[in-house]
Amino acid sequence: MGVLMSVLAFEDAVEIGANRGRLAADHAASIRRVDRDLGRLLDINEAWRSPETADDNYRRYQEYLAGTGPWAPIALPADESVHCKGGAVDSDDGYNPDVVRILNDHGWYHTVYRWIGGKRVLVEQWHFERFPARDNHRHEGDPASVGATTFDPEEDEMGTKYVQVKDDRGNFAMVGPDGVGRILTGAALRGAQKIATVANGGSLPEVQLSGEEWDAATLEAFGKE
Ligand SMILES: [Zn+2]
Repeated sequence: MGVLMSVLAFEDAVEIGANRGRLAADHAASIRRVDRDLGRLLDINEAWRSPETADDNYRRYQEYLAGTGPWAPIALPADESVHCKGGAVDSDDGYNPDVVRILNDHGWYHTVYRWIGGKRVLVEQWHFERFPARDNHRHEGDPASVGATTFDPEEDEMGTKYVQVKDDRGNFAMVGPDGVGRILTGAALRGAQKIATVANGGSLPEVQLSGEEWDAATLEAFGKE
């Protein structure tokens, strides 16, 4: 069980700006400083989440685990979800190492890891939580507005990250930038290994699962929230 946390009410969360949802005020101010240092708006898919949505996600995840429902992403109940506290963002910029460096400088860090084959593997590259004590800019003012900032797709080139996963039975899978694992064989596997190695900048980390045999649904499960 996680530590019980109170959720943040909608009216106590503040707008981040540019239709990117809401966060606790201190965290929203931090995102505006991130926008400033990034020179554009940080991509945010989801920030504050309602308790109703979180509990609904959690119920679907439990049904999936119990085998009584379709595949559902990893989810926590509202009282354990940092999204519900207004302290987490999901961002596709999490795949871009240059942006991750800026986020880290502002106290936003990846937090969702799983132990896979004895290794601590980052499974949610899109999920960040803010640790104010690690924010090097926390004493700076809040930039007034991001309204004039425009999104430049040229600057949104993703730095991709792949991890190869294999089990004792010779099954191979590639966990891609979306955090989802895909089982591959033969030429498709060899092609994916080449592409992933280049995309990673010359390396392809491998995780060995011992005694496991998995199907596509199992692999997908270590991806998403
Ligand atoms: Zn998240």
